[in-house]
Amino acid sequence: DGVSMSELPRPCRMMLLVNPQSGKGQALTLYNNHIQRQLNEAGIQHTLVITERQNHARELMREADLSQWDALVIMSGDGLLYEVINGLLERPDWEEAVQIPLGILPGGSGNALAASVHHYSGASPVYSEELLVSCGFLLCKGLVSHMDLVSIHLSSSPRLFSFLSLAWGFVADVDIESEKYRHAGAARFTVGTLVRLASLRIYKGKLAYLPAAADRNGEEGLRKNMTLHCNNQASSLSPASLLCHQGGDTPCENTLHNYCHSNNSLKVRKAENTPSRSAIKSLPGPPDSVLLPLDQPLPSSWVVVQEEDFVLVLAMHQSHLAEDLLAAPEATVDDGIIHLFYVRAGISRSALLRLFLAMEKGAHLATNCQHLVYAKVQALRLEPYSPKGIITVDGEVVEYGPVQAEVHRGLSRLITG
Ligand code: ADP
Ligand code: MG
Repeated sequence: DGVSMSELPRPCRMMLLVNPQSGKGQALTLYNNHIQRQLNEAGIQHTLVITERQNHARELMREADLSQWDALVIMSGDGLLYEVINGLLERPDWEEAVQIPLGILPGGSGNALAASVHHYSGASPVYSEELLVSCGFLLCKGLVSHMDLVSIHLSSSPRLFSFLSLAWGFVADVDIESEKYRHAGAARFTVGTLVRLASLRIYKGKLAYLPAAADRNGEEGLRKNMTLHCNNQASSLSPASLLCHQGGDTPCENTLHNYCHSNNSLKVRKAENTPSRSAIKSLPGPPDSVLLPLDQPLPSSWVVVQEEDFVLVLAMHQSHLAEDLLAAPEATVDDGIIHLFYVRAGISRSALLRLFLAMEKGAHLATNCQHLVYAKVQALRLEPYSPKGIITVDGEVVEYGPVQAEVHRGLSRLITG
């Protein structure tokens, strides 16, 4: 979406965070062999920050003087970016902090965002060091897009932000079980998938979602109308990012709700059914516009999935789940859509394996697997019935139990080249 793109300033002051332990433990070597020279040749001044432990980057982000930096670049797997984003959104000045351009260089074993960025550039797929060189090149080009973030509510943890995925069942189990194969690099997911297939099981729970606005209404007319309404406030935002309802009397349901409402010149009445935000009011970050507290029943506009026996539930916010898994082929960086997939119980091991093999090329939807369901959604809620299990957000384990999510279109910025 060319309208929302901007360019990094030149000269550019870049903080480059490297996790020396990610992946095969080679991130620093990869930096020395490829990235240092690429950045120097592009005239990009950068400061190397080597992370020392888990949560180091998150703590740095909470306190950093961001005015010193034009971009924050993460060279690790997706886990380090997850820390950076959540650190930025924990700041009292989150609204400004979340605007800083972020970059990603694949240095870990789970490099899904890097693979997504490469995919969005239109280039044919490459892996490992070739992917790194491609992402280094795109970083040097310095074009900045908006990137969706998804807010995640859990039963007792503070709200989180996710840039990549929410998983339960097969995918979450593989992600976590395969951490012990991290030395195998990106192959850890292939190994993990085969191991988990051998002990395939069913996960019971209740899944519901709010279909994406584009699927609920005639989207184009609404977009155009709201662009007119909001264009004064939205100078830094893509017109396509705005999905508020037309007309001053209907509620503004979009993910940029708060941006619109923070400006008095846009008179949009708050709806009577606006969710009570008591639980999240005190936390930084944008308010959610369609989620109700987890213990309250869902509004009738939500779709409740009839099946309660699943093999997996996977919500994707970007295209790739791993370097070689194009899970959401239609996804773009700021489409404002959660691409929700679930696989119903009853699928055979071989059919599930075929799905994952097809996913390498993003062809799993074309296999016409009767057990695979795909929906574009704005928000979702999942209530697992079993008392124990694994839920992952961006590949990291989070509190197990009821979870809900809502997309915030284009909330952050990402260097996509
Ligand atoms: P990978 O794809 O290999 O899992 P990640 O970027 O996800 O790579 O990093 C894995 C974890 O390593 C993250 O949770 C991060 O907090 C943690 N981490 C960062 N720096 C260090 C360090 N110096 N030593 C150990 N763990 C670290
Ligand atoms: Mg990881």
